[in-house]
Amino acid sequence: MSSAENRLSVPDCLFCRIVAGEVPADVVASTERAVAFRDINPQAPVHVLVVPRDHHADVTQLAAVDPGLLADVVALADEVAQEHAGGQFRLVFNTGAEAGQSVFHVHGHVIGGRRLGWSPA
Ligand code: AMP
Repeated sequence: MSSAENRLSVPDCLFCRIVAGEVPADVVASTERAVAFRDINPQAPVHVLVVPRDHHADVTQLAAVDPGLLADVVALADEVAQEHAGGQFRLVFNTGAEAGQSVFHVHGHVIGGRRLGWSPA
């Protein structure tokens, strides 16, 4: 487990800066290892990003390096969804620019609060 002192952090990473409190965000929940904050450009009534405090580029790297931390991220996503979306939600990890990833600090999109369609294209 990493403490604040030896946390994996990358300079100029937007989400590392949000985790550090250097960039403001609408934080809805947090744990020792993960933070959940509202997406600045919401696509649904509930659209929250859940990030590990440690920097990992994407979900495949996180799963390979620290699978327990990925489980923590999923647990926090569930906590957010229980509180804000009746426990029914989509959890999306865009992986790679072609798939729509624009911030290369892994984040799960917790999307819900309405009936969701299925058109990921
Ligand atoms: P992705 O495109 O999957 O990498 O998702 C990145 C998400 O971060 C997008 O949905 C953006 O709207 C969101 N985003 C970008 N900057 C911020 C910010 N400062 N605070 C909250 N969400 C942000």
